[in-house]
Amino acid sequence: MLVTGKTSVYGIIGDPVEHSLSPVIQNSAFEKLGMDCVYVPFRVATSALGVAVRGLRSQGVIGFNVTVPHKTEIIKYLDKLDLIAKNVGAINTVKIAQNKLVGYNTDTTGVVEALKTNGISPGDNTFTILGAGGAAKAIAYALIESTPRLTVLNRTFEKARGLKRNLMRRSGKEIKIDSLTKRNLERELLKTDVLINATSIGMKGNLGKIPIEDNLPQDLVVFDIVYDRCDTELVRQAKRSGCRTIRGTEMLLYQAAAAFELWTGVKAPVDTMRDSLVSFEFSR
Ligand code: NAP
Repeated sequence: MLVTGKTSVYGIIGDPVEHSLSPVIQNSAFEKLGMDCVYVPFRVATSALGVAVRGLRSQGVIGFNVTVPHKTEIIKYLDKLDLIAKNVGAINTVKIAQNKLVGYNTDTTGVVEALKTNGISPGDNTFTILGAGGAAKAIAYALIESTPRLTVLNRTFEKARGLKRNLMRRSGKEIKIDSLTKRNLERELLKTDVLINATSIGMKGNLGKIPIEDNLPQDLVVFDIVYDRCDTELVRQAKRSGCRTIRGTEMLLYQAAAAFELWTGVKAPVDTMRDSLVSFEFSR
């Protein structure tokens, strides 16, 4: 890749950001399509978020992704929100056009595409989501219209209540919430087709453990959106129980493809993006 004064710059802001696989995925797409573009990770501390966003705008960056911990905080620095992003209340993609910053949420597309690619139709399955942070909000929003049953369990019950309030206001659909305890999770799993982990448990540095039995129901599908080079503890546990599993890289791939298309208006080369992820994971 040759970077010159004419190269268009994209990126991702977060803290930490060095673990992000987004540069690998996006740069592989630019290269495949012969586009004169580059995607760069920027570590941005919360205290520097406003300055960083102004800097990205003034330096002519065309679009960027937003990751933990800035997905909500960034909203106050944007000029406009797309309707889905507004409803979710969290941003993972920003497009800068005519000097205006517009916020989007492509985690919603990412989760639905990851499910569909794995043969799971949201309309025909019941879901339990663990977590009530930015990712859980996007997933719940993406599923609520079609699923016959949605439960959200979170360590901090108040946050689950906030998610429910927002979602019911936007969709009018019922959603069950509870605290994330072993007892509540066991009870919900009896009525769940697909379990989605959207907590940070399993992410490097998080010492938490999902309060779950060793033997999961065999017909349960377990989708852990947390991604790592190897399987997370939850995915390993689900495989030992004979469950079908979906890894977090599936959602990562499709949210990235949706962001690519928003920025460039060009169809994302999803197969190339997937291959780049797989070969990068194996090369480390
Ligand atoms: P977030 O807004 O910070 O939310 C974190 C969630 O995890 C909260 O619900 C929090 O519960 C819960 N949590 C954290 N530590 C816990 C523990 N020890 N025990 C129980 N619950 C715990 O983060 P986020 O943006 O939603 O992201 C969550 C995870 O998803 C991250 O690992 C992120 O990398 C991953 N992610 C993956 C994709 C993908 O494409 N694969 C996309 C987005 C996010 P409390 O409310 O009680 O604090």
